[in-house]
Amino acid sequence: MKKIFSVLSDIFFTRRCPGCGNLLPVLEENIICDECRPDFTDISDKLFYVSELEFMKAVYLFSGPPRHGLHRFKFRNDGSAGRFFADRMYEMICKEKFLDTDCVIVPIPGNVKDTDREYVQAEFLGKRIARKLRVPFVCDVIRKKKSVRSQTKCRTFAERKKNAEKAFILNKENAEKVNGKTVLLIDDISTTGSTLSSAAAVLKKAGAERIYGICAAKTPSLRERKSRYIIPYPDKMKMTMVNINEVEKIKKSKD
Ligand SMILES: [Zn+2]
Repeated sequence: MKKIFSVLSDIFFTRRCPGCGNLLPVLEENIICDECRPDFTDISDKLFYVSELEFMKAVYLFSGPPRHGLHRFKFRNDGSAGRFFADRMYEMICKEKFLDTDCVIVPIPGNVKDTDREYVQAEFLGKRIARKLRVPFVCDVIRKKKSVRSQTKCRTFAERKKNAEKAFILNKENAEKVNGKTVLLIDDISTTGSTLSSAAAVLKKAGAERIYGICAAKTPSLRERKSRYIIPYPDKMKMTMVNINEVEKIKKSKD
């Protein structure tokens, strides 16, 4: 009963800032409060090169208010924050020219059963984005292996990469849903890109034509703070912050 009331009041009476979670004044036009707004660092004009993907994009830097908002979404079932981030991801996608091709949305699979969460974040985001884009939402082609531990429990890049590798398995029966398609691979937060990369490798086995990573936020790295353009990770998986012309150059040099 309490829950129903809180859902109804969210819809009809109140809007909350996706950063601090405080109520916004009634009839306030801005969707982020005055205090949080300057700290929502928009990085949606950046492209990140992640192996197995065409490129990855994220809306915000994962620090300050976006970080608080995504934590509430992830750990406290704050759906209104989830909807805010999904809508920003949708807007970011609309600015790209993904949609002139045969496109589907695939969320990074997660485990919801062993937590008290009400949803898998990437599915929540992906469903809303797919509905807005009017493209198929496909969540039964890849699945997470049961034995895989959460990426947040891995401390180093090497641990994360090792954990992410072979984290997903292909559900062959449904492979045709992505075969020959452009896939928008959805996740809430990207740190090293290793989760996206390993999921994309499985989707490629299923015949996915090209895969773009779309995230709500990307964690800043030490190197990133030092260099605006290049983040040379210490092994094969390169993740480079570049502009779109440079991505084209990288692709050409690889061909
Ligand atoms: Zn706020």
